[in-house]
Amino acid sequence: MKTFDLAFIGLGAASLSLATRLANNGYGGSAVFIDPAPEAVDERTWCGWGLIDHPYQAALTRQWHCWRVGSAAAMSRSGHPDIPYEMLRGSAVRRLSMQSIASRRDWEVLTPAAVMAEKREQGTWCLELDDGSTVQAKMVLDSRPPRLSLQRPWLWQSFYGIEIKGEDFGADDCVNLMELVEDDAPLVNFFYELPITRDQRLIEFTRFTPEKPDMEDLKARVEQRLAERGWQQAQVVRTEQGHLPMAPIAAQTHEQWIAIGTAGGSMRPATGYAFHAIQSWADEAAGQLMAGTPPSPPSRSRILDWLDGVFLESLWLEPEAAAGRYRQLFEKTPPAALTRFLMSRPRPIDILKVLLALPVSPMLRAAWHHGWRRS
Ligand SMILES: Cc1cc2nc3c(=O)[nH]c(=O)nc-3n(C[C@H](O)[C@H](O)[C@H](O)COP(=O)(O)OP(=O)(O)OC[C@H]3O[C@@H](n4cnc5c(N)ncnc54)[C@H](O)[C@@H]3O)c2cc1C
Repeated sequence: MKTFDLAFIGLGAASLSLATRLANNGYGGSAVFIDPAPEAVDERTWCGWGLIDHPYQAALTRQWHCWRVGSAAAMSRSGHPDIPYEMLRGSAVRRLSMQSIASRRDWEVLTPAAVMAEKREQGTWCLELDDGSTVQAKMVLDSRPPRLSLQRPWLWQSFYGIEIKGEDFGADDCVNLMELVEDDAPLVNFFYELPITRDQRLIEFTRFTPEKPDMEDLKARVEQRLAERGWQQAQVVRTEQGHLPMAPIAAQTHEQWIAIGTAGGSMRPATGYAFHAIQSWADEAAGQLMAGTPPSPPSRSRILDWLDGVFLESLWLEPEAAAGRYRQLFEKTPPAALTRFLMSRPRPIDILKVLLALPVSPMLRAAWHHGWRRS
């Protein structure tokens, strides 16, 4: 039986991003890709501030240079002419990446297929698939979603979104990152809205929550909003949903088995953003594999993890202050510093600017609680 140099479990953001770089840079090893989804499905969009170049630049759906945060009563608007908030469709990333993968005759794609079990035999990984077949590889890159139970201050970011198309929804050059709303459910609830074109919008309802909520509740909130706007007749192009772990996930690597993507710790706890961090990791990991060394897991900053814990703890302590706190953060921190901070690429001075934008005593109280709970 053939033994591949690399086996990728999953064809999501992390696997596709690394594979694209390896294919484009002429990596000499063999590879196999295993995923239950047979083809690209438009089931998610990846957004974030475009602070770095990546191979999917040409496939961007839209960029905005303006964003709003707050509550309906008081939204604060900020932006930056050189820092775009960008949107990419997951299906476009998969299509482009599959072209790179297909350019390699010695690479194999096994779809639809799922890895059910693994065992290590004489220095090689043997993966058992759902059709009963097996695949052997020297190194495994595993992007399957991690199974987690989260403890305070960490939270789930649960969301349901509907993309609509139809009538003229009006011109808007600004993304609504967070429009916080009153809701009985803990802790923080908000709408997220992307005006993709005049006749296309993505509207999501998001909850930062200790327990994963019923998606039907979140869906009902989006439908209610569409009705309030008079857009309930618009064509639903697609929906998206998820429960993202707002928690630091430790790197996991043993005997040439490396967890990657969200499972490997690429997601930023306080934001749920992972796509751009995965791009940086993929650049580094491809360089390492080309040089014949195993890829490092995604790097994490202990100071950012700790600050994220303090910020989330401040939401637990005073959920009713969330709207004001987010508004204050976006109003008082210079956009370049804040976007670098949120995308996990801060300069030391950026961290200071973020800290100065937040109210002192609630943050000290949260820091004390967070520190005390960890000790
Ligand atoms: C709907 C949605 C929207 C998001 N939006 C953003 C955003 O705007 N910005 C941002 O930065 N982040 C966003 N994220 C978070 C994060 O960027 C994504 O989850 C990203 O896809 C993570 O990449 P990944 O490779 O770790 O996992 P995934 O992309 O989820 O890939 C994991 C793959 O593993 C496969 N798999 C699962 N089980 C098996 C098995 N047994 N065998 C083989 N394969 C298996 C799955 O089919 C999947 O293809 C979003 C997440 C979701 C769910």
